[in-house]
Amino acid sequence: MRTGGGMRPRPPRHHTKGGGQKRVEPLPAVVSSVSPKAEHGVVELPASLTVKELAELLEVTPSQVIKELLSNGVITSINQVIDYDTAAIVAQGLGFETREAVVVQAEEEIVSRGLAPVTRGELEERALLQPRPAVVTIMGHVDHGKTSLLDAIRETEVTAREVGGITQHIGAYQVEVHGKKITFLDTPGHEAFTAMRARGAQVTDLAVLVVAADDGVMPQTLEAIDHARAAKVPIIVALNKIDKPEANPQRVKQQLADAGLLIEEWGGDAVCVPVSAKKKMGIEHLLEMVLLVAEMAELKANPDRAARGVVIEARLDRTRGAVATVLIQDGTLKIGDNVLIGSIYGKVRAMFNDKGKRVKKAESATPVEILGLTGIPQAGDTLEVVHDEKTARAIAAERAQQKEAVTTTPAHLVSLDDLFAQIQSGRIKELNIILKTDVQGSIEPIKTSLEGLSTDKVKVNIIHQGAGSITESDVLLAQASKAIIIGFNTRPEPGAKRAAEATGVDIRFYDIIYNVIDDVGKALAGLLEPTYTQVIEGHAEVRQLFRIGKGQIVGGCMVTDGQVSRTAQCRVLRDGSVVCEGRIGGLRRFKDDVKEVQSGFECGISIEGFNDLQVGDIIESFRRERTN
Ligand code: GDP
Repeated sequence: MRTGGGMRPRPPRHHTKGGGQKRVEPLPAVVSSVSPKAEHGVVELPASLTVKELAELLEVTPSQVIKELLSNGVITSINQVIDYDTAAIVAQGLGFETREAVVVQAEEEIVSRGLAPVTRGELEERALLQPRPAVVTIMGHVDHGKTSLLDAIRETEVTAREVGGITQHIGAYQVEVHGKKITFLDTPGHEAFTAMRARGAQVTDLAVLVVAADDGVMPQTLEAIDHARAAKVPIIVALNKIDKPEANPQRVKQQLADAGLLIEEWGGDAVCVPVSAKKKMGIEHLLEMVLLVAEMAELKANPDRAARGVVIEARLDRTRGAVATVLIQDGTLKIGDNVLIGSIYGKVRAMFNDKGKRVKKAESATPVEILGLTGIPQAGDTLEVVHDEKTARAIAAERAQQKEAVTTTPAHLVSLDDLFAQIQSGRIKELNIILKTDVQGSIEPIKTSLEGLSTDKVKVNIIHQGAGSITESDVLLAQASKAIIIGFNTRPEPGAKRAAEATGVDIRFYDIIYNVIDDVGKALAGLLEPTYTQVIEGHAEVRQLFRIGKGQIVGGCMVTDGQVSRTAQCRVLRDGSVVCEGRIGGLRRFKDDVKEVQSGFECGISIEGFNDLQVGDIIESFRRERTN
């Protein structure tokens, strides 16, 4: 959302909407055709117009109009048409004088202005789109009250609508506010959110950022902001724990501003709502603001098409078999539909909503548990409806066969090495970077220099930054946002290292600022030459020789220092000279293949393509590590 000048209205600009400008609204909704002239706070309003059009006329944000309507007891949406009288009340409430304008029919307007007609297909498609509920994820620092807030929101629903009703835990739930639904994902936190994105599923429309008013902005608050931003998801701040005497909302607002998240009250675009999840204060207001921000996002879906959805959770139930919670993203899922989820198919036998109630159909943004699948899908998998069961089964079988290949091929990621090629081919226009440093002070100079490398072909974005080691969540964000990670005087946590290796995320380590800038600059220009350094792992001495099948020689060795690993490179030293350089072919202890053998242990070593080991030879095990 924007704020167009705050609540204090400015005299509106002279609007000229014509001039051959192409209009985008569906034609029948358009009635405001006269350029409304407003001088010194007088505004001409047509007999009817949408909330959005009124906001444009008054040069305020649609949210201000909706809020003004709300304070007059009128609940509207951004595209809702309101009449002159209603519009006049809003305008007057915002400090304008009003006058009714002459209305010209939309068709006449088209003729008189020569506007390009909208094609029939476009009109038909738009007509099929219906507003859908927003899907919301709650994020924030640990202990700031995410779970409590989710519970408090859920309880408003239980007490308000179905006393004694049991809310199921199915991974998501819906609440109704002023007759409109909102869907909340039940797994709070930006990690779950980004993990879904990394799997290619963007399910969330809005993020509610919980910040404890006593504790303020903390590292995970900053992470959550960056994760939501990287996904281009609007943020609503829930300033929690305001019941506490130590609560200091002003300090939090300042900290948020320092983090680049400016709230509306301070002229920014983020809605901020004070709440207490514990005392259930401000929850209703928060939900109203969620509705408001959702309105701005104009979320739409076509209820008449076959359903498409994403698996949020799946499990095997002892009595009911495979159970999957699916969030429908478009269309309507019905009992009897043949569905395909990855390599799993099925026919929807039964569906249950978040209240545990059996339902016959599920519309967009609705979470439902479905029964009837032949296996257990994974969270993040996409559900599609297929015409008949035979086709579903055939595609599932084909996918299962390909699965091995698919899972071992990493998603198309960005790497500094082939960055230039990717820019040249037009595949990337932005280089997203996650910057982690040892100390806070290093961030700003590196960030500024990196951003300064942007060219007209490619923009350098630092999507997340922070002091500390590289975490698994950083790797997830990099994977989801096609970013590279730069570690300046910092290393990855073990989990992060494994995750990066498994997903192919490019992590670069540096200890000199100049080298960071130089490398990224060269990569952008296509000049980066990788450089490697050798790291010696350890040595083993050949003490005996064995001959195994086909005459292959294996050295019976003792590891004398460090370690020898199965995947390392090696060289054989004889009397101080290198007689061979290659790879370890086999590494065994007793009869077992092993990954590595530490100093002080015996093992059998064979070397790929080399059959001339001799007693007394030293096998040196080493790795090449990139230094840029
Ligand atoms: P999460 O880790 O973000 O999910 O946080 P929790 O919901 O588990 O809450 C952490 C702690 O803060 C719990 O002890 C809650 O009872 C407490 N808490 C949560 N919301 C509020 C609140 O509005 N006021 C007060 N005083 N305590 C709260």
